[in-house]
Amino acid sequence: MNKIIRWGKWALVGMTTVLLVACGGSEEKETASVEQKVDTIHWKMVTTWPKNAPGMGTGAETLAQNIKEMSNGRLDIKVYAAGELVPALEVFDAVSRGTAQMGHGTAYYWKGKIPAAQFFSTVPFGFNAQEFNAWVGEGGGLALWEEIYAPFNLIPMVAGNAGVQMGGWFNKEINSLADFQGLKIRMPGLGGEVLEKVGASSINLPASEVFTALQTGTIDATEWVGPYNDLAFGLYKAAKYYYYPGWHEPGSAVEAIFNKDAFEALPKDLKAIVRSAVQQANLAMLNEFTARNNAALQTLVNEHNVILKPFPEDLLIALKKASSETLEALAANDPQSQKVYDSFKSFLGPVSEWHDVSERAYINARALE
Ligand code: CA
Repeated sequence: MNKIIRWGKWALVGMTTVLLVACGGSEEKETASVEQKVDTIHWKMVTTWPKNAPGMGTGAETLAQNIKEMSNGRLDIKVYAAGELVPALEVFDAVSRGTAQMGHGTAYYWKGKIPAAQFFSTVPFGFNAQEFNAWVGEGGGLALWEEIYAPFNLIPMVAGNAGVQMGGWFNKEINSLADFQGLKIRMPGLGGEVLEKVGASSINLPASEVFTALQTGTIDATEWVGPYNDLAFGLYKAAKYYYYPGWHEPGSAVEAIFNKDAFEALPKDLKAIVRSAVQQANLAMLNEFTARNNAALQTLVNEHNVILKPFPEDLLIALKKASSETLEALAANDPQSQKVYDSFKSFLGPVSEWHDVSERAYINARALE
């Protein structure tokens, strides 16, 4: 009963140990004060985001703070913005080899290594945030995600979601599919591949070059995130037409990745704390985007005279068809993508049917006058 756990290091916790000493049939209580030492584990979290990027960068910082508080300081994680310790696109490798114990980013950045990873960020005309969380949490998505990251010594978790993004910033009006064809559009990932199939060209540019490229006409359009981020980025100064919906990113998930050795070395309670904190971060990020996007959109429209427009229907239909072809081709060329795509499709069909009569029906009903 008088077991003293040694934690080492310098965080000191005052602890009173009651020693019961049997003494000739009577009990004598002896109270001893023991200074219990708490071992603080120091981790590094590398991220793919600029310092304090709204929602994503701030989400990483909040997650680290919450883990520190929940663990009473036993797990102390220092957060590095993109480029501070490693460049954004080296986060995966840095955590895989243990340069950092944890990473914060989004899975489609790793498509060069793992094409199937793209299903764990967002898929054109795929899941929204609510559906993605349900697929990962209840529909077999997490087991597949863990399976594809396991060879890289990584454990993934969903750590946030931006919700449905915007279609992007255009320097001219788009009234039909024909107006869209021939445009040079900055759009990474699967969305970029889809664009090519409908006759536009996709260009991938780092964040630092997007604004100037749009302003000087090197590109005709760019997607970014949604009003909350796009307002902060100042894209309204480079193009006036702001299109919706973000068909290419209907629920972009943020991932927390962990070096498997580092995670497995944590005591059981710290593992549970990390899992809980990441779940909380996932919800908090979606809340933040949901709460702040419309205020930012109003500022864009009312103060910066941005012209807000829906994409024309013929364009959306063409993009949807091209998206299916893109996903089919991805799956056909890569067995792992096929396996994830099969799971994705088997969840998307039923959840879409359910949302036809629940979320969509309700939102339509609410809009009736
Ligand atoms: Ca985006």
